[in-house]
Amino acid sequence: MRCPYCNSKDNKVIDSRAADGGDSIRRRRECLKCSRRFTTREHVEQRARLVVIKKDGTRVPFERQKIQTGLEKSCYKRPIATETLQAMTDQVEEELHRKYEREVEAIVIGKTVAEHLKKIDQIAYVRFASVYKEFRDLDDFLDEVKEVLDSRQQESLKDQDTLF
Ligand SMILES: [Zn+2]
Repeated sequence: MRCPYCNSKDNKVIDSRAADGGDSIRRRRECLKCSRRFTTREHVEQRARLVVIKKDGTRVPFERQKIQTGLEKSCYKRPIATETLQAMTDQVEEELHRKYEREVEAIVIGKTVAEHLKKIDQIAYVRFASVYKEFRDLDDFLDEVKEVLDSRQQESLKDQDTLF
């Protein structure tokens, strides 16, 4: 990816998000030479589209957004930049596509995410792993994390009540 302004090859990704309903990835990049910003769009090749095998054996299309949402929830109130989480999502997605051509089990996705998270933040890792281990499914995991976070917020509200 060359900078459209100065033609330099060196740039860093400052933002990545799904576009076109998940069929492409839009990346905002900053040129390391001239500091100008530009956008690139990467199309996911149809043949590279992964299918996720859920624990009940059903198949669903791989969705990058689920990984990112899982990471965001596990890292709730942790000192981790959104940029770091997006980079981690990129790494996990890339790794899964490299290792698994057509199908991947949901539990493998969970393990891969957990491994990456472990290197970044222990608390977020424990949050992710403790829930994931039991449910082995990202959908169930996300529901559970939401419940944990909701109850935690209510607890902290209770704590505040007793202060006054
Ligand atoms: Zn440039």
